Amino acid sequence: MPNLPEIDTQFLLDFLTKLLNTPSPTGLAEPAIALTEQTLEAFPALKLSRTRKGALLATWPGERDDCPRALTAHADTLGAMVKEIKSNGRLKLSQIGGYAWNNIEGEGCTVYTRFGRPLRGSILLTKASAHVYGPEINDTKRSADTLEVRLDARTFTEKETLDLGISVGDFVAFDPRVEINAGFVRSRHLDDKACVAALVAAVKALADAGLKPARTTSLLISNYEEVGHGAAAGIPADVEELLVVDMAAVGEGQASDEFHASLCVKDSGGPYHHGLSDRLRTLAEKHAIPYKVDIYPYYRSDGEAFWSAGGDIAVASSAPV
Ligand SMILES: [Zn+2]
Repeated sequence: MPNLPEIDTQFLLDFLTKLLNTPSPTGLAEPAIALTEQTLEAFPALKLSRTRKGALLATWPGERDDCPRALTAHADTLGAMVKEIKSNGRLKLSQIGGYAWNNIEGEGCTVYTRFGRPLRGSILLTKASAHVYGPEINDTKRSADTLEVRLDARTFTEKETLDLGISVGDFVAFDPRVEINAGFVRSRHLDDKACVAALVAAVKALADAGLKPARTTSLLISNYEEVGHGAAAGIPADVEELLVVDMAAVGEGQASDEFHASLCVKDSGGPYHHGLSDRLRTLAEKHAIPYKVDIYPYYRSDGEAFWSAGGDIAVASSAPV
């Protein structure tokens, strides 16, 4: 087999850093979609378009036109919305996507008001001070009722917060805390921006090598994955194979780890397409790509969103870690 084209790692890291620093909770993912679109505009062979839902579709005509393929990754992230402005001027949150409440405790956040500048704040336990509440802090179950946003603004009442321009339904983005250190990239929102960056870097690698895909290939950068229907629409009707590129599920008992690509052959939605998964295993072996095969216990991908919406093609799911 010929060698795979070289990935421009610096380009990948620069784009990934920019993407991670572009807030995009589901429902407000447009800036991240637009950044990806601008970056792909550097490759004129790709035809770029948007779905009516706002996802980005990039189609690259291949050596052959039959049996076109697609890959998808999502640019939206977990986040929140303002559920309620409390009588003490602080904000109660409604989750966007599924995550444990304790994962956002202490995080900095930005509230996007309808008019005017975004406001900054912190997500705190309602009884945050150990000097006041003592052991109650460790005993408190983290939930929508026990966490709140304290704004970087002088407000002690609901009215003062309303006067800041905040209203119910404003989007809240959690700080991405991007750090590149000793070859590792750390950030809250690597899911799934790492995969979007991997796809864009793969396009650049092929283009730099003067190559194009063997078959016409579309990339769908979806914008509603975290709430379950990202790629339900947007895959071109003639596509015959879809590969979902999203995060792995790493933990005790899992085969996946941070140093291998992984191929998810089954998750909460059932098995993926055996023939396509098997072909990906064969390709990884031929090209000496270290990988693991795994089953993700509490996980659904955009491939299942597509299948559930009636998609009638082979779907497989992979992860860069
Ligand atoms: Zn994801």
